[in-house]
Order: sequence, then C-alpha cells, then structure tokens
Amino acid sequence: PFMEEINLYEAVDNALLLLKKHIEEKAIKMEIDIERNITVVFDRNHIQQILINILLNAVESMNKNEKRIAIQAEERRNYVNLCIKDNGCGIDKSILNRIFNPFFTTKASGTGLGLYVSYQLLLQNNGNITVDTEEGEGTTFTITFNKAGDDI
Ligand code: ADP
Ligand code: MG
Repeated sequence: PFMEEINLYEAVDNALLLLKKHIEEKAIKMEIDIERNITVVFDRNHIQQILINILLNAVESMNKNEKRIAIQAEERRNYVNLCIKDNGCGIDKSILNRIFNPFFTTKASGTGLGLYVSYQLLLQNNGNITVDTEEGEGTTFTITFNKAGDDI
C-alpha cells in the first residue's frame, strides 16, 4: 500500500458521488456525521474500494419503504471508527461467520468478493472491520482506520 494522510470526509464524499445514481434511484436518505478535519493514514485507492464495497452492500440491502444509511465517524487518539449503518434486511445469524469468505454471496448475481477484498485491504493498511446486525432491522459495519501510522 502507498500510505497517505487521507481526509475521511472527502473519501466518503467521493465514494457517495460514485454511488449517487443508485442512492437517488432508491430514494435513500443519507445521514453523514463526520467532522471535516479528521485524517487517517491509508492507501487512497484502497480506502475508495472499501467504502464503495460497504456502501454498495448497504444500498443493495434496502427493502423497506423508508430507506436510511447513516455514516458516522468517532475519532480517538490513535484511530478512527467509521460506522456505516443501514436499515436494510440484516444478515441471518447462521451465515454471519461466512460473509468475509471469498465468493460467499446470497445475491442472485453477486460476486461475493466485496467483503473479502475489503477485509484483505484493511489488513494490509493496519485497519479492521467488524459487523453488527439484526435480521429485518439492519446492519452496521464499523471500519477502524489508523490515524498516526502506528499499529492499532
Ligand atoms: P456480494 O455483495 O457480491 O454478495 P459481498 O462480499 O459484498 O458480496 O457480501 C457478501 C454477503 O454479505 C452478501 O451477499 C450479503 O448476504 C451479506 N451482506 C453484506 N453487507 C450487507 C448488508 N449491509 N446488509 C445485508 N447483508 C449484507
Ligand atoms: Mg457486495
């Protein structure tokens, strides 16, 4: 990875711009709560790829009338947690331990590579990802980014 200081708000904004059409077509309400001055140390291409994968999954999970995605950053001394929360279909507990496996998908035409690749890229950049989900209620992915360039 080519590590750089990345402004987190701008990285999220870039990813949302790429997904603009999908978000508008589904009339998803976006709630962004990220302070403008937060920077993380990460590879620019990798962070884009991760954000697009996670956000696209959130968009694709939507099945309710009122669709919402909330993105929130929590800054700590050495790291930043970025929470991406959707009110979509949620993930069945029985498959939760497989979602980061290569080629695991529940979608008719999914590749099953989005989460696998995102996890690998996070490992390469000293980051992490965790998931919290409730079937029928929604899913939150929490991505941990390094701030200072030290290990988390
Ligand atoms: P794909 O999107 O091609 O299926 P991913 O690796 O991106 O592959 O995701 C793997 C699986 O994890 C999906 O098929 C889906 O079952 C589940 N998943 C991931 N993100 C979400 C989400 N936000 N809401 C519900 N299910 C999800
Ligand atoms: Mg995907």
